[in-house]
Amino acid sequence: TLFTDLGLAEPVIRAVTAESYTTPTPIQAQSIPIILEGHDLVGIAQTGTGKTAAFVLPILHRLVEQRTNPGARGCRTLILAPTRELATQIADAARVYGKFIRPSVAVVIGGAKPGPQARQMMPGVDLLVATPGRLLDHVSTGAIRLDGTEMIVLDEADQMLDLGFMPAIRKIMSMLPSRRQAVMFSATMPKPIRALAAEFLRNPREVSV
Ligand code: AMP
Repeated sequence: TLFTDLGLAEPVIRAVTAESYTTPTPIQAQSIPIILEGHDLVGIAQTGTGKTAAFVLPILHRLVEQRTNPGARGCRTLILAPTRELATQIADAARVYGKFIRPSVAVVIGGAKPGPQARQMMPGVDLLVATPGRLLDHVSTGAIRLDGTEMIVLDEADQMLDLGFMPAIRKIMSMLPSRRQAVMFSATMPKPIRALAAEFLRNPREVSV
């Protein structure tokens, strides 16, 4: 499989080519077409498999296809991650793979001042990468709204479970529009993660590497 076989828009392919990626990794080859078709997805993959690009590239593709305004304090795509470090890495990857698309990206994580995060969110953003607790803080103050979010990604869902984020995630999922697309990546699939997928994902396709 080549990147050009996956249905991705040209500026997205140009960015991965600029990164010297020759071929998609297995998780990318399996996940990208499913996400582009609009299906919900459960991906079982460890870090290091290229899972970040597996969800970031389709998100960027959609920005090329349809550059709509996220609306004040809104985000088109919400990515939840267990740690500040991972959230920052995902945002960095979105900027690298998005260098010919220039998405607006905000990072909302604990341990940083909330004021600048709220100001970043004010005009709305294409991609919001967040840890669950801090995201909920901003939702409760009205700095962020989730009612226009088109897509949610739960990255390293099993880590978020281990860190006690499940109640926060359930709350966040319940605030999203019912017609959103949902994608979940996890290295393992313990029962509570299966239950979360069953409750919040609609007829999900499953891929594993
Ligand atoms: P991840 O599993 O998302 O943390 O990615 C692991 C590493 O693989 C990152 O450093 C990426 O830059 C790199 N990577 C992702 N996709 C590809 C690809 N198709 N070809 C070569 N390297 C890649």
